[in-house]
Amino acid sequence: MRYVSTRGQAPVLGFEEAMFAGLARDGGLYVPEAVPRLAPDAIAALAGLPYEEVALRVMRPFIGDAFAEDELRAAVAAAHAGFGHPARAPLKQLAPNRFLLELFHGPTLAFKDFAMQVIGQLFQRALARRGARITIVGATSGDTGSAAIEAFRGLEGVDVFILFPDGRVSEVQRRQMTTPAEANVHAIALQGDFDACQARVKDLFNDHAFRDAVGLAAVNSINWARVLVQAVYYFAAAVALGAPHRSVAFAVPTGNFGDVYAGAVARAMGLPVARLVVATNHNDILHRCLTTGRYAPEAVRPSISPSMDIQLASNFERALFDALGRDGSAVAGLMGRLAAGGFEVPAPALAALRAAYASGRASEAETAATIAATLAATGELLCPHSAVAAKVAAEVQGPEPMVVLATAHPAKFPEAVEAATGLRPALPARLADLHDRPERVTVLPDDLAALQSLIRERIAR
Ligand SMILES: *Cc1c(COP(=O)(O)O)cnc(C)c1O
Repeated sequence: MRYVSTRGQAPVLGFEEAMFAGLARDGGLYVPEAVPRLAPDAIAALAGLPYEEVALRVMRPFIGDAFAEDELRAAVAAAHAGFGHPARAPLKQLAPNRFLLELFHGPTLAFKDFAMQVIGQLFQRALARRGARITIVGATSGDTGSAAIEAFRGLEGVDVFILFPDGRVSEVQRRQMTTPAEANVHAIALQGDFDACQARVKDLFNDHAFRDAVGLAAVNSINWARVLVQAVYYFAAAVALGAPHRSVAFAVPTGNFGDVYAGAVARAMGLPVARLVVATNHNDILHRCLTTGRYAPEAVRPSISPSMDIQLASNFERALFDALGRDGSAVAGLMGRLAAGGFEVPAPALAALRAAYASGRASEAETAATIAATLAATGELLCPHSAVAAKVAAEVQGPEPMVVLATAHPAKFPEAVEAATGLRPALPARLADLHDRPERVTVLPDDLAALQSLIRERIAR
């Protein structure tokens, strides 16, 4: 399987190289040259299988010979071993013909665990084969960093440095990053905001001598392997609800467009997906773009669903590439206009996007009201991100089953849930002692040289 860049100017790579590269050298994102299809009988045969077996069958055609069968099987098994539910992604019913797909049973209680755990296992195996070491660096506003730390803690050949804005992540998120005791985990509280964290990570990558000396690598949401892993739960859920004999719709709480694009990949593989619904909070650039055709970032406004507080949805570039007939130079042209404030999606591409994705938004008040109404009607507590999707799903419900993706456990966002319902959600038992575990964190000034010397020192151990 070969991977090409959405901007058409970067080298064509195999699966393993695309996984390590992350961003393509022309600034684009890697996508498969052609999406492999699963025949209806192969999809029907997924019914009733363990989640890990579904994962193997869905991912296998994209990976080709980059990983041997037993290697991939062991990686997928290890990746899901730390989940707190045997179904991995269980379905619950919310209303007639409406379901909740619980994606928060992983070690950090958010859906990002699915992709990050598999990537950690694949990285470790590929590095062992190459006899190489890498240094993973990432900036986080909360969920991605904890998922990365949890995935790479204790693995051979990898150090993981995560920068978060000092004092600006929730206590649960901070403790998930600062309590792992493994020597290869390095949590850094940067004295700056999230933008400063992201800027310093960019600086590290732009210092090519440093990048090569420490073997810098990233696992951000544009990594193709992350998107691929997320396609698995669309298959698992749809098959449980009657696919391929019945088509299913999904409502997805969306920030960077990675999760909903994984649904588009599942559909391109042959899964009958009736509708993919992009649900945004008041940072609604994607809903505005699908409605008006203009993609124009505004200032980010904080919300009670902070993991969706994004104005530049990096994975949207993959959807644009599809909508523009896979024309890399057309994508590069539109992206080049972002710095000047935005662009108009050409009419035929806008029609293609609207055929592929429905959309809606939830205000802060609507999100809180949905958390309260869902609790009253079903007894389920939703996290604010999941509530955004539940609100939009109810608006667009059609004749086919609608699956709402629940992307985080409510106990990750206890303040917002308590404000909406008066109930403070408890952490699951396996995390109940999180507040008693010792923390280990390095506070650093917002200074590149200080960051570089810390990384050099730590990886020399
Ligand atoms: C990251 C995240 C999202 C948004 O997912 P994207 O793939 O960036 O669209 C939604 N909910 C939660 C809880 C998240 O952590």
